[in-house]
Amino acid sequence: FSDQPVLEINDLHVAYGKIEALHGANLRVEAGQIATVIGPNGAGKSTMLNAIAGALPHTGTARGNVRLLGSDIAGMAIEKRVELGMCLVPETRELFATMNVEDNLLLGSYRRYQARDANYADQMPVVYDLFPRLRERRKQQAGTLSGGERQMLALGRALMAKPSLLMLDEPSLGLAPLIVKEIFHIIVRLKQTGVAILLVEQNARAALQVADHGYVLENGEMTMQGSATELAADPRVAAAYLGFV
Ligand code: ATP
Repeated sequence: FSDQPVLEINDLHVAYGKIEALHGANLRVEAGQIATVIGPNGAGKSTMLNAIAGALPHTGTARGNVRLLGSDIAGMAIEKRVELGMCLVPETRELFATMNVEDNLLLGSYRRYQARDANYADQMPVVYDLFPRLRERRKQQAGTLSGGERQMLALGRALMAKPSLLMLDEPSLGLAPLIVKEIFHIIVRLKQTGVAILLVEQNARAALQVADHGYVLENGEMTMQGSATELAADPRVAAAYLGFV
């Protein structure tokens, strides 16, 4: 039914060996919305995303409840989660450096191609409309792109899979302020295409500006949550994450 969240996690714990990095997180991403998780370095944000995606490093183990569009996906292989509509754009923005922009995009639709989806490349014009810069540079080697262009390509490649849930790990990391602005502007346009977005960010100000709902993750615990407007107006959030006291 339509009020079912796209993603719901309950009591998610992640440990690396004996050390627990995430202590029972709860979170929901509603259809058509952006949820953001903000928090300092080392709080466990990437750990949480990787656990949801099924992409924890081999030292990591997760337990808890993860539901994607109503299906229990905890313990499922990454490929299965991808088939069900999940897509993670990691902080590292892995691209195929020696391949050109367009081929990198096409690899984003590889699973659809494998599944004999005749329209596997149908998101290409959508991606090029969102990122005219990628269209201009479609024959350029990915390894020679600027940081901002690389982030655009990582986002564009994810969209080629036509995901229902897009998870973005620190899309603003290492980018100049103007580019960050552009990337966040695009994230809002992505939401308008109907995809639900889980955005992990240290840039709390920008994240809360675009998000509908927000969570604060500190030391592996969700310490606050609320509408993005409420959180941005909260004095504790302002003092710790928005840079005023
Ligand atoms: P950042 O924004 O700096 O990436 P984060 O909030 O994403 O921070 P995580 O990278 O999830 O935080 O790290 C959470 C905790 O788990 C940290 O204490 C980190 O040292 C630890 N950790 C992360 N990956 C591993 C790993 N592969 N093995 C052991 N410990 C890990």
